[in-house]
Amino acid sequence: MKQFLIGLGILGLTLTASAQELPQTTPTVMPSSLASSEPSVSLAPVFTIAPNKVVQGQSAELNLQSSQPGKYKVEVAGQSLLMFENGQTEAGKKHKYRAFLAIKGDLKPGGYTILVKDENGQVLLKDKLEVVPGAFSTQYIRFVRPPLNPEQAALVAEEDKSVDEARISRTEQALWDSPFILPVPHRMSAAYGTRRYLNGKYNGYHSGVDFASPHGYPIKSPANAIVALARYFSKYNSNGNTIFLDHGQGVTSVYIHMSKLAVKNGDRVKKGQTIGYIGTTGRSTGPHLHWGVYLNGHNTDGMSWIRFSERAFR
Ligand SMILES: [Zn+2]
Repeated sequence: MKQFLIGLGILGLTLTASAQELPQTTPTVMPSSLASSEPSVSLAPVFTIAPNKVVQGQSAELNLQSSQPGKYKVEVAGQSLLMFENGQTEAGKKHKYRAFLAIKGDLKPGGYTILVKDENGQVLLKDKLEVVPGAFSTQYIRFVRPPLNPEQAALVAEEDKSVDEARISRTEQALWDSPFILPVPHRMSAAYGTRRYLNGKYNGYHSGVDFASPHGYPIKSPANAIVALARYFSKYNSNGNTIFLDHGQGVTSVYIHMSKLAVKNGDRVKKGQTIGYIGTTGRSTGPHLHWGVYLNGHNTDGMSWIRFSERAFR
């Protein structure tokens, strides 16, 4: 059955009707009373990205204002981001949408096209993003562990799957109401983006920030959140005991190698609340915290994200 879409922009409505249900004689023009109430301000959607020049590993905020409520998506650099509702403009004429974009630590520098699409996949707007190179150091790590038997490998695969699922935020609202803070006050021992060689072989870049914290030290939640995953992992798992926090609107954070957990799945935690304790579980050469921040499932530099969140509340 063929579908017709009739968009009544000024009402913010989209009506869907099948051709067979519409009598042939029905006029498809708007009643004049509605047409004459059209405000003089532009109803065209407006898109902004800040900043539009982003260093590898850092982040940007994408904003859209539209008179039509809907499910909007942004496509850029191989990512497809769903925009979250973010209130209305002061005049109440437009709906606001927001998404946070993480630029991968090894994304090729250069220009990228941004496509803003409506829920039917129609391109509403285009914009540009420039990615500039970051400065990253290199680290050589030696770590040897015995190979896993099939049963152990299956257990690790199941554990890793729960981590992958927790990486994506499912909370529509932003739960934070002030800038993010550091989870521990200690020296950084490995920066985000560090190029790593494991036993002499390139093993990708470091997706989080490591802190040289003493064993048993309490780890604080950097912002309000819902606990998406809090789990003791088997001794075969590289992550060790893991917590994933969902801060809302696509923002999540991870804590691994912990000795002990202080929260459980589904708990609501406040900024500054203890979520777990420093340890050296998993693939770890000594007590430390690996802290990772993810925007829509993509890693970003947590230190840069803190500065980014501070600017938002200035
Ligand atoms: Zn790490």
